[in-house]
Amino acid sequence: MNNFDQEISKYRKNTGSNISKIEKKSKHKHQYEECIIRYKFSFMGKNNLHTELSSYCTICGKIGDRFSKEKSIVEEKTIHKQLPNGMKYLTHMSGKEIYEQYHDILPVFNAEFSDKYIDLNQREN
Ligand SMILES: [Zn+2]
Repeated sequence: MNNFDQEISKYRKNTGSNISKIEKKSKHKHQYEECIIRYKFSFMGKNNLHTELSSYCTICGKIGDRFSKEKSIVEEKTIHKQLPNGMKYLTHMSGKEIYEQYHDILPVFNAEFSDKYIDLNQREN
């Protein structure tokens, strides 16, 4: 077997398993649960993490929309902060702050920005 044939058989094998995986999961109504997704990306040669409150289908792992305020368990999305001069202001919780407060409650997944699905086996907590 030369390298070309090996590449082809590898490709065929992957395609086959992907198709059966999708077929198995295609006939269902997505069941979205709230979760935290940590997107890894590199910027200027450094690895960065972008944390976002999101939702995922518990059956197939499809990434859904962020839940509405009414549906979300993350209650206070605005937080009070104080400037060094004592001035108070309101701001939204950052993804990082949501992660710090909710990673014990919500499932956490790692993904890439291009991903449409999270890997259900890669749940962090
Ligand atoms: Zn689904």
